[in-house]
Amino acid sequence: MTETTPSFRDGSLTAYQKCVEIAHNLWWSWHPEVVEIFQLLDPIRWRELGHNPIALLREYTPEQFESRVLELTLHTRIDMAYRRLKKYVSERPMWARQNAGVLGSRPVAYFSLEFGLHESVPIYSGGLGVLAGDHVKSASGLGVPLVAIGLFYDQGYFKQLIDETGGQAENYVDTKVEYLPFEPALDADGKKIIVEVETKTGTIYAKVRRLRVGRVDLYLLDTDLEANSQEDRELTSRLYGGNKRTRIRQEIVCGVGGVKALRALGIAPGVYHLNEGHNSFATLEAVRQKMEDCGMTFEAAVADVAQQTVFTTHTPVEAGHDYFDPALVDEHLAPLREKLGLTEDEFLALGRKNPLDANEEFCMTVLGLKLSRYANGVSSLHGVVSRRMWRSLWPEKTEEETPIGHITNGVHVPTWMAPQMKTLFERTIPGWTEESIDPAVWSQVYDVDAGELWETHCALKTQLVDFARRRTVRQLERVGADADAIAQARTILDPEALTIGFARRFAEYKRAYLVVQDEERLDRIVNNPERPVQFVFAGKAHPADDLGKAVIRRVIALQRNPKFSKRIVFLEDYDINVGRRLVQGVDVWLNNPRRPLEASGTSGQKVVLNGALNFSILDGWWAEAYDGSNGFAIGDGSIHTDLRVMDERDNANLLKTLENEVVPMFYDRDKDGLPVRWIRRMKNSIATLAWRFSAHRMVADYVKYAYLPAAGGQSAKMPQF
Ligand SMILES: *Cc1c(COP(=O)(O)O)cnc(C)c1O
Repeated sequence: MTETTPSFRDGSLTAYQKCVEIAHNLWWSWHPEVVEIFQLLDPIRWRELGHNPIALLREYTPEQFESRVLELTLHTRIDMAYRRLKKYVSERPMWARQNAGVLGSRPVAYFSLEFGLHESVPIYSGGLGVLAGDHVKSASGLGVPLVAIGLFYDQGYFKQLIDETGGQAENYVDTKVEYLPFEPALDADGKKIIVEVETKTGTIYAKVRRLRVGRVDLYLLDTDLEANSQEDRELTSRLYGGNKRTRIRQEIVCGVGGVKALRALGIAPGVYHLNEGHNSFATLEAVRQKMEDCGMTFEAAVADVAQQTVFTTHTPVEAGHDYFDPALVDEHLAPLREKLGLTEDEFLALGRKNPLDANEEFCMTVLGLKLSRYANGVSSLHGVVSRRMWRSLWPEKTEEETPIGHITNGVHVPTWMAPQMKTLFERTIPGWTEESIDPAVWSQVYDVDAGELWETHCALKTQLVDFARRRTVRQLERVGADADAIAQARTILDPEALTIGFARRFAEYKRAYLVVQDEERLDRIVNNPERPVQFVFAGKAHPADDLGKAVIRRVIALQRNPKFSKRIVFLEDYDINVGRRLVQGVDVWLNNPRRPLEASGTSGQKVVLNGALNFSILDGWWAEAYDGSNGFAIGDGSIHTDLRVMDERDNANLLKTLENEVVPMFYDRDKDGLPVRWIRRMKNSIATLAWRFSAHRMVADYVKYAYLPAAGGQSAKMPQF
């Protein structure tokens, strides 16, 4: 390739140094052409090292690296990637200049207990974390001034291993911190920041690590310090590990410690955004600072902080909300409470639906709702459900007047769209970029050649089949399966067959058991000789959830039954990597939660970008997205108080729609072998859904309906219906 490199001031850096710098900004992870550089260096090690570029670079001396780069003629590509990164981080996009000016030098401080950014940074468990990761990436893309605050867990969430009997084993692995793209966070004097969080039983210390995500900085607090007791050194080891005491300690470190860290960094947030109730304590430290800085009363400071605070609730499932017993709250919050000048009862009232009920536990969601002026659910339906759920906090208001709106979740398009799709769209849709949220641009997908769209999709499906075979072989080798079983695993799934993906937490309300309940019916569906159907499952059950584990066992038992072994596969250890493979390779994404318990769901939004069709209960985002021709609905959204009746009815509708609509349409081919009606539906799905359920649209909505009003700019009423 002959490209004349213009002169710029990086002539002194070697290719190795440039790659190290690239590896220290997760920007690389959503640029396939940059990912490919690392992959080309050593495809096998890249896979074995879990797609971690720092770990990969460490395998070379700088000299070895230079010769490898020379051998592969990668210099130009590395230069180009480096230059693009530098340009990216130094620019402020037009969108932000036009739409987020008011935020200026007072950024949004976005608090979340987990961030799902990439499989090589294991500080997430599932949907909530991936959503936070996508939020941060889109804030970077749009140029919204935002800093993110979370915790660093050196063991992350558990890795799932399936044993010989089909049981789930949970494995906690120490993350090698030196392989993560961290830098220490420094204060104005260049000193490493240590924050102190006081409790009645001692001070907890935390260091602060910085992780660059494009233009956004993510600060992660970590209590693994010698100044702490052994117990506290391990406090931030595991995400959602330990007991209630662990949890409240993690939450004061992240919330209270996070606000202190911002101050030490010299950052004065204009807006606090609490992603779920876990971080509601942050508001109380912000109130304390305001009282101290401005000599305000508690009430005045609360009014100010609430005006600046946005609270997002994420689940109608009761177990998803944190409740703490008053003694635990007192042990951990008494020092802060005293500075706020509150009695114990006054303090506890902040976390109670009924402030006068001394038996009520302290609820983090209630605290978040009380201390914020802007609150939202994550889909239109979830907005309705949340108003109903929390209306008693505003006894003088009707349910409709309850001040909880909604901003529907979305996904970060560059992260979830397959490179092949991206290339196709770039080539065939004028003016299209992955960052576009203009419906007119996306609707040009109707002009894309049906055959080309189909071929691209089929190539992705073949990749998924290869991935599933490789993973299954690895799984079987690990448990010492016999040679026959392993040889068989190399031939499972059929790249031509209708492929249905089902991947999510095996939580009860998600009802993974539904579709595998009736074995005879399943046999007829999957083993139909003319129109075969196959299922790819993945998902973790919570370590304490025996029912969820039993469902996994059931799926594995089917997979090990010769009748189903070619058509049903369970992939262990669902994470961002497995998720990406699945959403990019399936034909259909099945989702059958118990309405209305799925607040939004985002995995179905990822498949849209890759041309798969949603097949879902009308719950969460799908309830507002489905229009009759952009996917398939299960049932009509009706519910029943008897859960058994509801399960039966939903399952009957699921199987009926699958057999009568989904399967026939997929196998209805024209003379060239193209499923014309199906491809039409793929295009409907992309045209109507991709921009609307993108994280760029979501973050743009947060700016408009929440961040600008909270920062004192113009206000717009958040959508309620
Ligand atoms: C997108 C994603 C989720 C969220 O899935 P839903 O079931 O739709 O909430 C969870 N886990 C991973 C790894 C994901 O990529």
